Amino acid sequence: MKFKLINWLREKLRKRRRIHREKDKPEDSQVEDDVTNLPRLPSTRPNVLTPSPSTESLALANSPLFGKLPRELRYDILLRAFGGGLLHMDLSFVHPVAPIEPGRVLFSHTGMNTNDRLDVNWDTTVPKSWQWWSSVCHRVMPNYEKTWSFIRMSHPEIPRPGDDRCRYGDAHFCQSWPGTYPSKCKIGIMGWLLSCRQAYVEGIDVLYRTNTMHMSGQTLILNLPQLLPPQRLSAITSLEIVCPLTLHGAEVGAIPEVNLLKDYLSVFASCLPSLTRLYLALKAKGSNARPVDMQSVFKPLDEFVLKTSLKEFTVSHSHTVFTPLYNAVQNEIAAQHRHQYKTIPEIWRNADGSYILPICGPNTEPFYKQVETSWPKPPRVGYRTVGADVAGDGYWLVEGEVDNYTPCRFSTVYL
Ligand SMILES: [Zn+2]
Ligand SMILES: [Zn+2]
Repeated sequence: MKFKLINWLREKLRKRRRIHREKDKPEDSQVEDDVTNLPRLPSTRPNVLTPSPSTESLALANSPLFGKLPRELRYDILLRAFGGGLLHMDLSFVHPVAPIEPGRVLFSHTGMNTNDRLDVNWDTTVPKSWQWWSSVCHRVMPNYEKTWSFIRMSHPEIPRPGDDRCRYGDAHFCQSWPGTYPSKCKIGIMGWLLSCRQAYVEGIDVLYRTNTMHMSGQTLILNLPQLLPPQRLSAITSLEIVCPLTLHGAEVGAIPEVNLLKDYLSVFASCLPSLTRLYLALKAKGSNARPVDMQSVFKPLDEFVLKTSLKEFTVSHSHTVFTPLYNAVQNEIAAQHRHQYKTIPEIWRNADGSYILPICGPNTEPFYKQVETSWPKPPRVGYRTVGADVAGDGYWLVEGEVDNYTPCRFSTVYL
């Protein structure tokens, strides 16, 4: 029986490869996402995985683990094992990654098959298909929440969210994370989720509610309501999103194309009721003209922040977009105050269009203290800040990606 199944699978695979080779189109022309075959949720789910605790008794609810260990302790254990981090969630229309050659030693993130230049070795003999992919993010160091503000301003070479290449096996800090390689790169929650329904109920909630999800796939983000059940969407509290921002225009006054941004914000506002933290990396693509006219970008962002209840909202811009913007705000405030302050390169924008800049601390303080700000929390007006008198509903503007470091992920089609 076992060998029959293996032979059947091999034959299937051979057929798929033959069909693919016979297609006369060259590989490069077959890059379009096959959105019609996107693996959407069925209209009715065949099995309910998340039972209601009040109406169903679970088979293992009386086991020592679930019966004797208090729920708070189980929650703490799950939080340490699978929560409180930065995770990748991705759905891509790609070839499978090629199997790893026997004996080859890899150092890539998740042990993905990559070449010496850290490009993925895709198995192009197998046609592209939609593939879910996830991992822990190793673009950042452990405890990045504590160190990120410092890193952000003092180490410009550390990749920003828009330059994240974990999906392609290329992460800067795999070695800095504790655990055994390559399993430490993976979330590793599937065994727990599949062990029993009670474990699933508690584990899946910690997974979605306590982690920050990094998403950069356009098709995934725009189709979230068709891809994830509503109870998972409503558990998501924190997101790190990469949104391409196409720039049109000539040498002066490039105009960003904002329809995609508006669509993203619409999905977040309508489908993620628990979202309280959002890091939105606007990754410039196209003209390098300066300055970029950002008013068309700020308008939907201002509207979005007023109709949501985000506690932390950061918008990063690629280097060549951010720098002229920062200089303009800095000069405007200097002109108002008739004083040039030594400021930190980040800006708080109130939804009414006014700005607040953090300023460097006194020189007697150690360097870390000098550049310390309230980010990602809103600024405390008057405490190392200059600009508007009130920090109202608004968001941080910070420097993002190095221009042209990694290509934008554009799907050719989106719904
Ligand atoms: Zn890793
Ligand atoms: Zn990553």
